[in-house]
Amino acid sequence: MKILVVGAGFSGAVYARECAEAGHHVEVIDKRDHIAGNAYDHVVEGVRVHKYGPHLFHTSNNRVVEWLSQFTDWQPYVHKVRAKLENGELVPFPVNSETVQRVLGKSLETLPMDTSVDADDARGYLIGQIGEELTELFFQRYTEKMWGMSLREMSVDVVRRVKIRTDNEERYFPDDSFQAVPTNGYTSIFEAIFEHPNISIKLETPFSMDMEKDFDYIFNSMAIDEYFHYTFGPLPYRSIRFHHNISEEDQSQGHVTINFTDTGPFTRETYWHNIPQHRISGQKYIHTVEEPCSYEDNAFERYYPVKTSDNRYANVYQQYKSEAKKVSDRMQFIGRCGTYQYLDMHQVIMQSLQGVTKWLG
Ligand SMILES: Cc1cc2nc3c(=O)[nH]c(=O)nc-3n(C[C@H](O)[C@H](O)[C@H](O)COP(=O)(O)OP(=O)(O)OC[C@H]3O[C@@H](n4cnc5c(N)ncnc54)[C@H](O)[C@@H]3O)c2cc1C
Repeated sequence: MKILVVGAGFSGAVYARECAEAGHHVEVIDKRDHIAGNAYDHVVEGVRVHKYGPHLFHTSNNRVVEWLSQFTDWQPYVHKVRAKLENGELVPFPVNSETVQRVLGKSLETLPMDTSVDADDARGYLIGQIGEELTELFFQRYTEKMWGMSLREMSVDVVRRVKIRTDNEERYFPDDSFQAVPTNGYTSIFEAIFEHPNISIKLETPFSMDMEKDFDYIFNSMAIDEYFHYTFGPLPYRSIRFHHNISEEDQSQGHVTINFTDTGPFTRETYWHNIPQHRISGQKYIHTVEEPCSYEDNAFERYYPVKTSDNRYANVYQQYKSEAKKVSDRMQFIGRCGTYQYLDMHQVIMQSLQGVTKWLG
């Protein structure tokens, strides 16, 4: 069959490669001028920079590791994050027993917990876990900057991803058995995935409806609401402006990612040279500071689907999903924006492997 894949990110790459291996002819298009979607990285002034924010690969899924390892070698890397307090002190984040001790001078077990707070929203959930003071310091301000809404309006799902530790665990992904960075960066993984005689790629090529007639089937990772002309209303996303700063001096204090707890507009900064395989040559330092904003204010760059405690957008998505079923004989929506959910790389790869295996079967 002649297959069109819309989007050269991880979802599109998995569908393209597996269909090509099965003998189909695949054309991949992307509206951007590069492959690799949001995982794109490139070398600037001798330093590997992730253009769309730090991408740390972590999983316990062997199938995903095996699939990706066909296209890359790995360097072990265990991610750790620090939070910067108002006095400039850096403490472990997510909150662990050391964080609590250094911020409050006492242990988590001795804090008076108000478990009567309604845990249907993110604030109630967090107060039940770490008390009011730590919730305000580490989550309330961050959430307002990150999501442009208060913790009360947010779904518990969003904060549940950040685990609170009662021990001294400081790994950011302690539950995952495999954590590493690709030896030559993420973009090189995509180059290897797309290197197949049955795959061709067209960049700077946005999807248009008139392409449909030229293909037998389409796997589409574009925003599902955009495809259906926003018939049921928009599915909003939070976006981020990335400020990449080059300097002559190392200001990192040896850390990779530092979260801010102040009320300013920035959420975190990442010092690339402290990640293995990221200082390629030269003596320059680059760090990237993140400033969240709405996607309307950032050229419709869609990063994080907005999840509210009343599920209002999840319900809108269900309407688009029903509409998508009607065209499933010729098209499937895939990936983060096609299915309107936040997915880490390992999750999008697994979901795509399952989806393409089913389709090919
Ligand atoms: C700031 C940030 C940090 C992240 N950090 C991590 C992390 O540390 N670890 C982790 O595992 N995951 C991380 N992720 C998640 C990771 O980026 C996603 O899992 C992955 O990018 C999803 O792949 P995808 O193919 O669904 O989407 P994308 O990578 O977004 O790819 C979709 C592609 O489709 C293209 N496209 C869209 N519309 C059209 C159109 N109309 N026509 C043509 N092309 C189109 C886009 O240009 C894009 O290249 C992070 C995400 C963000 C935003």
